Amino acid sequence: MKYVIVTGGVVSGLGKGVTASSIGVVLKACGLRVTSIKIDPYLNTDAGTMSPFEHGEVFVLDDGGEVDLDLGNYERFLDVTLTKDNNITTGKIYQSVLEKERKGDYLGKTVQVVPHVTDAIKNWIESVSLIPVDGKEGPADVCVIELGGTVGDIESMPFIEALRQLSFSVGPDNFCLVHVSLIPVLGVVGEQKTKPTQHSVRELRALGLTPHLLACRSAQPLLHNTREKLSQFCHVPVGNILNIHDVPNIWHVPLLLKNQNAHDTILRQLGLLSIAAPPDLG
Ligand code: ADP
Repeated sequence: MKYVIVTGGVVSGLGKGVTASSIGVVLKACGLRVTSIKIDPYLNTDAGTMSPFEHGEVFVLDDGGEVDLDLGNYERFLDVTLTKDNNITTGKIYQSVLEKERKGDYLGKTVQVVPHVTDAIKNWIESVSLIPVDGKEGPADVCVIELGGTVGDIESMPFIEALRQLSFSVGPDNFCLVHVSLIPVLGVVGEQKTKPTQHSVRELRALGLTPHLLACRSAQPLLHNTREKLSQFCHVPVGNILNIHDVPNIWHVPLLLKNQNAHDTILRQLGLLSIAAPPDLG
């Protein structure tokens, strides 16, 4: 299985879900089969009891799972039918670890976040990514995993650590990390600011994860010197810096990615360039 991980920095509500779904769309347009997992680092076991004013609409899956609305984006963008297990929350992980502990599955060991919770996260990702979601037989080629929240949040630390371990165990050819970040413009100066992104990439690196691509959210298209500065200070090649500026309709985002050859960069990182077709977005 090949994994594309989407993390976010600087602020929440950046468009990680839309970015992750759109990456799935361009990979699917290259002839690959795509599945997805959304990680929500909150303690609720699902989104069913959460206020829509606080967290957006609850999305109900075919199997009755009440999940984050990003899974609705994945289903619509990728034409897949996801299961409730495609939405991982801290609550679900802890529940499974605590049930195992009560059954005595840890054989007298001290149950800890590392390795027991992180192992549960890795096992969950590895088994759910194999579930076919597109009506065909056998596992998909690529699993797009969106980590909710913002890098550096206390809540997401076990997931970041599990993803770091996953990147090591599956190897560099099977792991591509896309970090979504914000490029704000200060009203008075009118300059696109890269510092918040530099800090969030530094935070990610300190936790052992290296972004292969940056997806920069901005109001207006990124200027050339902003890209160069990001490349220099975030250690990401200029060609791997994507710009997802504000668009009137989120269905434009897959086209934005295709026009920046995001598929080439991701497929190259995953060693899939030779088997993929040119993207056909219709
Ligand atoms: P996150 O997953 O980071 O919380 P979402 O993907 O749910 O963010 O997006 C947050 C909001 O921003 C949604 O209403 C979405 O439609 C909007 N959005 C995302 N990307 C763009 C974009 N490029 N242009 C305009 N609106 C966007």
